[in-house]
Amino acid sequence: MLSQQNCVDLHVHTTASDGSLTPTEVVRLALAQGLRAIALTDHDSVAGVAEAQAAARGTDLEVIPGVEISSDWPVGDFHILGLYIEPRNGPLGERLAAMRAARVGRARKMLERLTALGMPLEWEEVLPSVNGCAIGRLHIARAMLRRGYIRSLQEAFQYIGRYGPAYVPRLRITPVEAIGLIRQAGGVAVLAHPTASGVAEHIPTLASLGLQGIEVFYPEHSFENIKALLRLARQYRLLVTGGSDFHGFEPGMGAPLGSCGVPARRLPFLRQAAMAGRSSEWACLPL
Ligand SMILES: [Zn+2]
Ligand SMILES: [Zn+2]
Repeated sequence: MLSQQNCVDLHVHTTASDGSLTPTEVVRLALAQGLRAIALTDHDSVAGVAEAQAAARGTDLEVIPGVEISSDWPVGDFHILGLYIEPRNGPLGERLAAMRAARVGRARKMLERLTALGMPLEWEEVLPSVNGCAIGRLHIARAMLRRGYIRSLQEAFQYIGRYGPAYVPRLRITPVEAIGLIRQAGGVAVLAHPTASGVAEHIPTLASLGLQGIEVFYPEHSFENIKALLRLARQYRLLVTGGSDFHGFEPGMGAPLGSCGVPARRLPFLRQAAMAGRSSEWACLPL
């Protein structure tokens, strides 16, 4: 087992999307655990990056600017992490803003459906407090829990999960567009949690379309998963990353910060890939 002192966690959420800790609180936790670096990878938002970098200033902790973009092909959901992105990149910022606006419309529709199911919620109880934050289903789940409609956050997904009666699909962008957006913003495009259903078999295609890494180390990955993903990474010359997908301390909300990170010695490879990407022109690919 690796000591967290030598680890980096490359998949972390904050209140800029559906995490329950602010960027400053996440930085304090990472410092307390002795992590060397964390990548802030909020869903469709970079709103937490500046605060986290300010909180880490003067310490040994590196805060890597990142994002997690939700994308779809008919065969499944593909979450693409962008690591070392330039947070003020114009095209990325504009696209993320459009995706966040679509998330607001989607959340409002889900509230209408929940009202019809006898579980009304006011918009104000769902709305996150952070400017530029990406609203998601977890915000709705938390409001349902506070109202006592459900007994756990997981239970909410019987209603707002993909096959639930209050589910509304989100704005769809393709993994190819997500990869293009990340790369033109100077970032490294990494496939998050590749063992999600139907995803791993598309790694060769995604690699040919510009994907640069895969998240090999992840809380739900078995030893067999890790071995298979390491083989794929070698075969398709993909970077190996890992992270906890930390969302906070709420019961059932997954792994603690720092778990499933990768050794800090892997970070220079990622940094090099970002630098190399920046020195070559990467245009957004067509959809
Ligand atoms: Zn994800
Ligand atoms: Zn995530």
